[in-house]
Amino acid sequence: MASIHIEAVRKTFGNFPVLHGVDLTIENGEFIVLVGPSGCGKSTLLRMIAGLEEVSSGEIRIAGKRVNEAAPKDRDIAMVFQSYALYPHMSVADNMSYSLRIRRTPKEKIADAVNGAAAKLGLDTFLERRPKALSGGQRQRVAMGRAIVRQPKAFLFDEPLSNLDARLREQMRAEIKRLHGQLGATSIYVTHDQIEAMTLADRIVAMHGGYVQQIGSPLELYDRPANLFVAGFIGSPGMNFLKGVYYREGTTAAVRVSSRLSVPAPVTTQLSSGAEVTLGIRPEHVALTSEGRFSASVDLVEPTGFGVILHLSIDGVAFKVFTQDRATLVPAKEISFDLPLERLHLFNAEGVRVID
Ligand code: ATP
Repeated sequence: MASIHIEAVRKTFGNFPVLHGVDLTIENGEFIVLVGPSGCGKSTLLRMIAGLEEVSSGEIRIAGKRVNEAAPKDRDIAMVFQSYALYPHMSVADNMSYSLRIRRTPKEKIADAVNGAAAKLGLDTFLERRPKALSGGQRQRVAMGRAIVRQPKAFLFDEPLSNLDARLREQMRAEIKRLHGQLGATSIYVTHDQIEAMTLADRIVAMHGGYVQQIGSPLELYDRPANLFVAGFIGSPGMNFLKGVYYREGTTAAVRVSSRLSVPAPVTTQLSSGAEVTLGIRPEHVALTSEGRFSASVDLVEPTGFGVILHLSIDGVAFKVFTQDRATLVPAKEISFDLPLERLHLFNAEGVRVID
């Protein structure tokens, strides 16, 4: 196990910059998730840590040692890919032991490592099978087993669950979390799925357009998103946004969304009266109440079983409410609600959070 330091790391493909300077320290044993939409540069960053992609500038250190120039095999890290990358002609046991065999590890040590990993992953009864005789989830487990037997300094996961169906993803996600609890190994996990990021990470690194947008625990990103990108990316259904103008008078403030709609807002000295702002509230934080300050008609109802997503329109802006109250299932009903002050998020004209 080891800590990993990423300092001012940039990446340019030809003239095309894809990472604009990433600084990140990953503590020994930490589970870090790099998350962001397609093309944000998360896989490129992971591949640079693995040594599969050159670093254009900056430095990467694993266990305190600069690895910019080190070949992948000399970095002592194990990578688990979406495609599993198993050898089809080898048994599960041989796939798992391959890296130890080429290092000429003694036979007994190999057997111990493979049996130990197989027990942890529930693969004991599959050791003699070929990969083609396994399900997708089992193959992904073999890929993880192959990584575990090496006892690497760190595990790198590149969208390892993307090829699995929803149910299996859920199951494997929990298995990866349990496994990390047992092994305590430094792990970096790339995904575009914010639920995977929220459920797995000690800390999430949210990326967009080649920039790190925010680094923090899952709940820090959920409770206090640093900007509009993170606010919109983390959480499902996504946060509602209302654009307006901020007015402050003494100890009260409001965001005027339109001539008909003004929302009481948090008081902050970071905004001057008349500033353009975006107000955010998560669908699950809208308070449905019979005597609410606001009302809107319901355009659409989406029952999820666990609750109901109501689609409203506020001054022509799409707005969602999540509720577990089944009585609100009646479509096209006018509903009344409040936007609790303590649940509001406020972003300035540049999209940066302006309240604590
Ligand atoms: P995805 O989830 O789709 O894989 P990502 O966030 O992992 O997205 P990267 O694969 O890191 O994104 O790619 C970041 C950017 O770099 C993209 O615009 C991509 O087109 C570009 N890119 C990646 N590899 C190369 C390459 N070998 N040559 C040129 N451009 C590349």
